[in-house]
Amino acid sequence: MTVEKSKIKLSHAVSVSLRAARVLHSVSRKFFPMLTAFSAVDALTPYVAVFFSARILSELAVGRRPDILWRWVIAGVVCTGLFAILRALIYQRKETLLDDLYGRKEILFAQKMFALDYADMDKQETHDLRAQIQQNEDWSDWGLMQTPGMFEALFKGAVGILSGAALTASLFTSPVPASAGRLTALNSPLFILALAAAMVLVSLLAGLCSAKAVSYWSSGSEDATLGNRLFGYFGFFGLKKERAAETRIYGQERLVSAYWGKNSAFGWHGCIARLARGPLGIYSGLGTGITVVITGCVYVFTCLKAWAGAFDVGSVTQYVGAATAMAGSIYALVSLLGDMKTNSAYLDTTFRFLDIPNAMYQGSLTTEKRSDRQYEVEFRDVSFKYPGSDAWALRHVSVKFKVGTRLAVVGENGSGKTTFIKLLCRLYDPQEGEILLNGIDIRKYNYRDYMDIFSVVFQDFKLISQPLGANVAGRADYDREKVRKALLDAGFGDRLETLPKGMDTQLYKDYGDEGVEISGGEAQKIAIARALYKDAPFIILDEPTASLDPIAEAEIYAKFNQISGDRTAIYISHRLSSCRFCDEILVFDSGAVVQKGSHEELLRAENGKYHELWTAQAQYYVE
Ligand code: ADP
Repeated sequence: MTVEKSKIKLSHAVSVSLRAARVLHSVSRKFFPMLTAFSAVDALTPYVAVFFSARILSELAVGRRPDILWRWVIAGVVCTGLFAILRALIYQRKETLLDDLYGRKEILFAQKMFALDYADMDKQETHDLRAQIQQNEDWSDWGLMQTPGMFEALFKGAVGILSGAALTASLFTSPVPASAGRLTALNSPLFILALAAAMVLVSLLAGLCSAKAVSYWSSGSEDATLGNRLFGYFGFFGLKKERAAETRIYGQERLVSAYWGKNSAFGWHGCIARLARGPLGIYSGLGTGITVVITGCVYVFTCLKAWAGAFDVGSVTQYVGAATAMAGSIYALVSLLGDMKTNSAYLDTTFRFLDIPNAMYQGSLTTEKRSDRQYEVEFRDVSFKYPGSDAWALRHVSVKFKVGTRLAVVGENGSGKTTFIKLLCRLYDPQEGEILLNGIDIRKYNYRDYMDIFSVVFQDFKLISQPLGANVAGRADYDREKVRKALLDAGFGDRLETLPKGMDTQLYKDYGDEGVEISGGEAQKIAIARALYKDAPFIILDEPTASLDPIAEAEIYAKFNQISGDRTAIYISHRLSSCRFCDEILVFDSGAVVQKGSHEELLRAENGKYHELWTAQAQYYVE
C-alpha cells in the first residue's frame, strides 16, 4: 500500500484512531482500563524517584538532620519499591490482555467473514483486502494493533506532563533573594517564558523528527509486505506434508532455495535496513538527541537559581529530572501525532473491510416448517451474471420443481449447473427475473429460514477438523442415533465400524495425532450423511459420486430413491447414465435450459443436446 501521508488530515487520523480504540474496546472491555492504569503507574514511576532523591539530597546538603534523613530514605525506598512492584504486576496483566486482544481481534475479522453476503465473500477483492490487512499487521502491527501502543503513549504523555508540571512549578515560583545582586534578573517572567518556550519548541522539533522517521518506516511498507508474503509462502513450503511427494519427485526445493538466495526485504541489503542506515536512522537519532538541548537549558537556569540561593541542591535534582521527563512526554505526544497519521492510512484499509455492507435484501417471512414438505420452487425467466463479469452465466431460465420429484441437471462443464444451484439456495440474487417459493419471491423470506429448506452436497464440499458426529450434525450436541442412520444411509457404515472412537473420532490431524485421515470417497459419504442429517425438504447433490469408487457409486444410485424419501431431490451429474432414474432431466447449455423431459423422451430427440451428450459418453461403454 502506498501511504500518501501528506494528504491525510490530522482530524481524520484522530477520528479513525478513536474508532479503532472503540472497536478494540468492544471486543475486550478489560484491556483499555488496564492500559490506562499501567500508563499512569509507568509515567509516575520516574517522578517518584526524582522526588525522593531530591528530598534526600536537600537533607544531606542543608538540613543534615539524621532522623529526618532516615525517614526520607525509608519512605523513598518503600515508595519506589511499591511503584516498581505495582508496575510489574500491572504490566503482566496488561501484556496478557494484549495477547488476548490479538486473538479477539482475529475473531472479529472471522465473524465479519462469516457475516458477509456470500457474493462478497466469493469476491477476490474481499480476499485481497483481508490479505492486505494481515500483511500490514505482520509488518509492524500497522492497523488496529498499533492503537494500544498509541493510547499507551497518549496516557503516559498526559500523566507525564501533569506530574512534571507539578514538580517543576516551584522552579519558577521560588524567587532569587535580593541579596543575589544581578542574578535577581532570573526572577523576571521573561526567563520563565523563554525556558518554557524552549522546552515546548525543542520537544516539538524532536517529535517532528521522530514522526518523519516513522514516515520513512512506512515508506518501506510495500517491500516489507511483499517480503512477508514471499516469506509466508517459501518460508513454510517445506513444512507442508501434502507437498512432500511432488517436492521430492520434481525437485521443487531448487525453486524454493532460489528464493532463499535472494535478499529479503528484511535482510542487511533489504530496503528496511537501507532506510535504517539512511534517513530513518538519522531522523530517529536527531529526534532523541535534540531533547538534550532541553536538559541543557534546564540545567543552566536551575543551577543559576540555586547558585543565587533560590533553592537548595536537592531541588536542582528534582527540577532537572522532572523537566527532562516532562520534555520526553511532550516529545512522545508529538511523535504520536505522526504515528497516528501514518497508521490512519492502514486503518482506512481495515475499516474498508469491516464496513463492507450486507447489501442482500433480508426478508422477514418465515418458511413455516411444513411437515408435508409442500415446498414448490419456480425459476421465472431468471438471468444472472457473476459480479465483475460481463457474460451471462444463466440466461432466461424458467423451471418449476414439482414437489417430491427427482430432478437431474446435466450439461457440459461451464454450462451453468452449479450457478443454477447457487441461485436456488440464494447464495446470489439474480439480476433479472425472480425465484419463487410457494408463489412468493424468495427475497421476501427470512434468509436463515430459507437456507434451512436446503441440504446441498457441493462438488467441492469441505468437512471440518472436528469429531465425525459433529461434522454430520453441524453441532457438538447431536442425536447419535440419527447421525448413525445418516452415516449408514450414505454408505459409511463399514468404515464407521473401523474408526477407533466411532462417531467421536476426530477427523484429520490438523490439531492432534488422534485424528484420522480419510479418503476423498469417504469424505464424500460423510458429506452426504451431513446432508441427510439436516433432513431438509430439498436435497441437492452436485456431482455426488465424483470421488466414489464404482461400487460405492452403484450403492448410492441404488439407494438414491430411498435416501431422497419424500424430499425434492436435485441431482447434478456429468454422467448421464446416473440420471436415468430421475423423473425429469434439465439439459443446460451455455447458461440456458435447452431441453427438459425424461431420459427416454430426451433420447428420442436425436438432434437434441441430450442425445449428443449421451452418444458422446456412450461410445466409451459400447463394446
Ligand atoms: P457448471 O456447474 O455447469 O460446470 P458453472 O455454473 O460453474 O458451470 O459456471 C457457469 C459459468 O459461470 C461459466 O462460464 C463459469 O466460468 C462462470 N463462473 C462460475 N463461477 C464464477 C465466478 N465465481 N465468477 C465468475 N464467473 C463464474
